[in-house]
Formats: sequence, structure tokens, C-alpha cells
Amino acid sequence: MPKPSYLRPTESFRYLEDVHPILTREIEEWEHLDNWYKMLEHLVIRARTAASGANSYRGFAVGCSVWAYKPNTPIWAQPWKIFTAANEKISPSEVKNCAERKAVLAALAENYTRIIGLVVAGRPQADADSKLIERALPPCLACRKFLLSTPGVSAQTRILMVHLTEPIGEEITFEELLRRHGMNFQSRK
Ligand SMILES: [Zn+2]
Repeated sequence: MPKPSYLRPTESFRYLEDVHPILTREIEEWEHLDNWYKMLEHLVIRARTAASGANSYRGFAVGCSVWAYKPNTPIWAQPWKIFTAANEKISPSEVKNCAERKAVLAALAENYTRIIGLVVAGRPQADADSKLIERALPPCLACRKFLLSTPGVSAQTRILMVHLTEPIGEEITFEELLRRHGMNFQSRK
């Protein structure tokens, strides 16, 4: 008599997904945002903590934490994950590696391609390109362009700018960030 299918080793993984389709189901948009807001306080702490790893010739520290999603990942295999980074510019003549770009690239490198939101912790300074001064630190022009060219960043991706030490912050969508700095999400190719 042949063994029942659920006893065959090769069937075991499919068996799990057949019984628990919820483990691999499509995540709805509201769930991504719900999780983002549940994680927000922690994400702020992680961004501020990451800033202590900054390597800046002028002592300008920025930390970023990214909340990202890896598509088609079962719940038990960590579909959402936090990535953090700090800024790096060791001399005026060197290339600047922003915390935002480093953190998003770290997420992409692990196939966490869907960027739900990011927290930028820094001290306010006028944007070098748009000259706009926000309550905290907005992603710079290079970062805005990079985010715009990243498919997993949507118009609704959350951008939370928080002060490094003061209880000051503002959360906006990526689309709104671009608009404030004279850019347009629709310009994405
Ligand atoms: Zn930047």
C-alpha cells in the first residue's frame, strides 16, 4: 500500500502551505502601514542609535532606519525587517555616503525590496539644493533621486524626519517630500 501523501518527505513543505495559506498570503497595503506605525517608536530609537556610527569630517551625524518587506515570504521567515546605517563623509573632497542610501541598499541586498518607510534622524540644516529648512533633516537631493529610481519605493512610502536629540519630528509621504523640494513623483521613468 503506498504511503499517504502527507508522509512523503517531499510533500512536507507544500503540506504546510496547504494547511496554512495564511503563512504565504498576499499582504494588504493597510497591514504594511499598520506594522509601520506599530514599529515606529522602535524605528526612531534605531535611527538615532545608528547615527552614533557616523563618520563625518565635520561632525554631522545622521542615522537612518528602514522598514522593509521581502515579497512572498512566509510569516515565520521574517517578511519585514529593519535595516540601519549612518552617514559617511571622511573629507570635503570624498564622496558622501548618506545613511538613507546605505540603509535602503542594505535592504535591497537582502531582497527586502519593498520599502514601507524610513526614519531619518539628524539635526536640521538647509537642504543644499532646494534651500528648504525642515523641522528635522530631509533626505538630500542625491537620496531623493536614488529613492525615486528605486522601484520598491512608492509615492506612499513613509518618510519620518526626526531630530537627533529633541522631541521634534514630522512624517510625510515620499510624494510629499518630493513636492516640497520641487520634484515630482510622476517624473519617475
Ligand atoms: Zn542623502
